[in-house]
Amino acid sequence: MKLLRYGAAGAERPGLLSADGSVRDLSSVVADIDAALITDPVRLDALRALDPASLPVVAGEVALASPLAGIGKIVGVGLNYHDHARECGLPIPGEPILFLKATSSLCGPNDAIRLPEGAEKTDWEVELGVVIGKTARSVPLEQALDHVFGYCIAHDVSERAHQLERGGQWTKGKSHDTFCPLGPWLVTADEVGDPQTLDLWCEVDGVMRQHSSTADMIFSVAEIVSYASRFMTLQPGDLIITGTPAGVGLGLKPPTYLARGAEVRLGIAGLGQQHQRVV
Ligand code: MN
Repeated sequence: MKLLRYGAAGAERPGLLSADGSVRDLSSVVADIDAALITDPVRLDALRALDPASLPVVAGEVALASPLAGIGKIVGVGLNYHDHARECGLPIPGEPILFLKATSSLCGPNDAIRLPEGAEKTDWEVELGVVIGKTARSVPLEQALDHVFGYCIAHDVSERAHQLERGGQWTKGKSHDTFCPLGPWLVTADEVGDPQTLDLWCEVDGVMRQHSSTADMIFSVAEIVSYASRFMTLQPGDLIITGTPAGVGLGLKPPTYLARGAEVRLGIAGLGQQHQRVV
């Protein structure tokens, strides 16, 4: 299933993407796409049994929102692709680098990215987002993927000056409003299959900047879930963003960042595409 939310901020409605590509309204069936829904097997089975053609089509231009409401925390993984560690000139980490990103950075997949005041080094990072569906506490590796509800595209927008030049942790550069476009859809794990075989890419002003595969991850999704769950409880509705491949602006010579008016497109095989304008 491809679950989604749409509509104006604060008044989002649940929906799903039908096989014919149309957005169907789910508000007669569920209240929202949230942790309560993704932990309720009865309602999920009922959703799976629905004929999408029986649901009302959402006509016209559909403003998509973050596909999951009430995300409890965003756990980021740093330097998790071999090619990205190389472009940063940094050694392959011996253990996953974890950081937290504020949930207030979340926005819809096609919402504008708002540059923070004085920002000059705002960068792009396409990432595979992992949504936790079952409480995970010190989970063994072989059971880790059983705790994943689904996957989505996450754009880990990063202001490098705030991340790297202002002291302390990466959190400051990762947490500005609109720095985590999510979606377009939350795709259930059964539909994605192996999360380590997905092509992902990011284009800035029509130039392909990142193009890789989740096969290049240093630590797999299963390893990350298992590892992170030894340091914090992962709860249903938490989001893990699993790192970005090579081709970020910081790695270009000279470094190149997002300017006002820039157009960013990013995608992951089977998970759709995002499009943002930088303002
Ligand atoms: Mn990142």
